[in-house]
Amino acid sequence: MTRISYVNGAYEPHPYAVVHIEDRGYQFSDGIYEYIAFYNHTLVDADLHFKRLERSLRELQIALPMSIRSMGIVIRELIERNGRADGGLYIQITRGVAKRDHAFPKHTTPSLVMTVCQAKLPKEKEVREGVKVITQPDIRWGRRDIKSVSLLANILAKQKASEKHAREAWLVDGDIISEGSASNSYIVTKAGELVTHPANEFILGGITRDVVLRLARKNGIKVSERAFSVAEAKKAAEAFLTSTSANVLPVVEIDGIKVGDGKVGVITRQLNTLYTAHIFKQTGKQL
Ligand code: PMP
Repeated sequence: MTRISYVNGAYEPHPYAVVHIEDRGYQFSDGIYEYIAFYNHTLVDADLHFKRLERSLRELQIALPMSIRSMGIVIRELIERNGRADGGLYIQITRGVAKRDHAFPKHTTPSLVMTVCQAKLPKEKEVREGVKVITQPDIRWGRRDIKSVSLLANILAKQKASEKHAREAWLVDGDIISEGSASNSYIVTKAGELVTHPANEFILGGITRDVVLRLARKNGIKVSERAFSVAEAKKAAEAFLTSTSANVLPVVEIDGIKVGDGKVGVITRQLNTLYTAHIFKQTGKQL
């Protein structure tokens, strides 16, 4: 089946789906995006993703190109046209096409691009045995809470991880781990407390993070949203990361140092099970 993408009102065969070279997303990274997983044609946590999308747009003063309701109709159509029951949906909105000038243009229509791809899921071995991460300096800007398309610092960090055969780079600000290059970071202390960076302007507040923290609290796990250092992480009992494509992924090594006994932790395993059940409840898909 031909892959179809949505570009500013048209459903195009993917190889021909293009935007103008003066689009401010291309020129200035002047835009935002969302990535939403879907299973059995059903978006996972759609409301939370659309809420974050609207917030990101508001923070950049970019107008919503169409109502969320209309976007939902386009998304359903796009998923159908791609003939995929399970997959991932990228929504990218930029300020639009305008003559190159740093300040916001006066009368520009925002660009809306949506693409559908194969479901991105961690490998079974990664979930079973855990993954390695490395630390990298967090050289990003001061508004990481906006899901901006400006990902240069993130890709540089991820590239370093990839060169070192690590799954993710954990970004370090001072001596504090803010988050991963494309995921949120967590540790479980020896006292059994789940710790993750507070959702402020220094991290992207992940939707998976929201859900996992809610599930943890509901199931009696003590949650502490506070900063933790690299040294604390290396002494932790357990560690893991979350994202829409990684779900709850155990971390068993940080910079070559084993976390705990180097095996997947009990609380991590429990949260993975709870999160998988959360997806099943919404979509009927057993991951
Ligand atoms: N932090 C960053 C920097 C990310 O890019 C992502 C994934 N896009 C996340 C956290 C996790 O967010 P979510 O759970 O919404 O996928």
